[in-house]
Amino acid sequence: VSHLADVEYFEAYDQLEVHALMLEDSQRLGSYLAAIRAHDLKDKLVLDVGAGSGILSMLCAKHGLAKHVWAVEAVPGMARMAQQLVQANGLQDKVTILTGRVEDITLPNKMDIIISEWMGFYLLHESMLESVLIARDRFLRAQGRMLPCSARIWAALVEAEDLRLDMANYEDFLGLDLRLVGEQQLAARTAEPRVEEVHGRRILAEPLVAVDLTDLHQLRVEGTRNLEAQLSFRTWRQGYAAGIAFWFDVGFGRDVILKTDPGSPPTHWKQTVVYFGAFPAVESGDVLEANVVLKQSEENPRQYNISVETL
Ligand code: SAH
Repeated sequence: VSHLADVEYFEAYDQLEVHALMLEDSQRLGSYLAAIRAHDLKDKLVLDVGAGSGILSMLCAKHGLAKHVWAVEAVPGMARMAQQLVQANGLQDKVTILTGRVEDITLPNKMDIIISEWMGFYLLHESMLESVLIARDRFLRAQGRMLPCSARIWAALVEAEDLRLDMANYEDFLGLDLRLVGEQQLAARTAEPRVEEVHGRRILAEPLVAVDLTDLHQLRVEGTRNLEAQLSFRTWRQGYAAGIAFWFDVGFGRDVILKTDPGSPPTHWKQTVVYFGAFPAVESGDVLEANVVLKQSEENPRQYNISVETL
């Protein structure tokens, strides 16, 4: 793992507002709390990987009645904050904060449960899942449980009519042909994937599962470095395809799912759109084949290069 990328990565989590944003995401914490309640944590030893403010550890101790929680956090400032919050809530006998990377720390016992909130934009951004899987291999007892235990990336063919019409304006601009400006604007605005809230009405075809990580108990540590999917979207209606929107869900077992699709209540993850840079017209019932590749970046392993190729 590139050291510089990790320094930048952990610096981002040294800011309290990043943690406040996550605490205020009620869909996110609601799902974790439901999972904590649905699984019987009584008498269980729990490891919280990347504890941040310590919220998940404290919920496990307070509402899950866990026997003991080990909260591991790499950012010293956040680990201190977590320690203060644990004390303020009288949970110091139940929660132990360890400052360090989960790859480097040691624990006195094997754990019954690993809980972690490792998901980034389009699931894999930040590549934190690898740390959680390393923690699993080092610390989870046989038959121990991961929370969450499964994850999927969804893909949907979407329109972007605002963008398309903005660009169309340049074709006849006060009687002048300014397409050159429009084309360069479009290229600039669609060069990188965009994190945005996608309205459901932009979706042109039934969303498809692009990546299915059915069992995080079994997944290999390097199992998400290079993922590829062939998707066939059958359009519901006429429109102009603009790109592919990605989002994810994670499962905790016992019917608890955290969803981030456009139809569910919004989360801080929103959706991520990869634009084609063109707007091919589609008719209802057309089949559009797309090849999607998510490849961990070699320069910065905390990021992915996402390519979508329509065939
Ligand atoms: N569990 C908290 C924070 C989630 S954000 C919550 O749900 O609100 C992820 C946190 O994991 C960040 O604080 C980050 O610094 C920490 N982290 C990421 N990788 C880590 C690793 N390998 N070891 C320890 N902490 C890590």
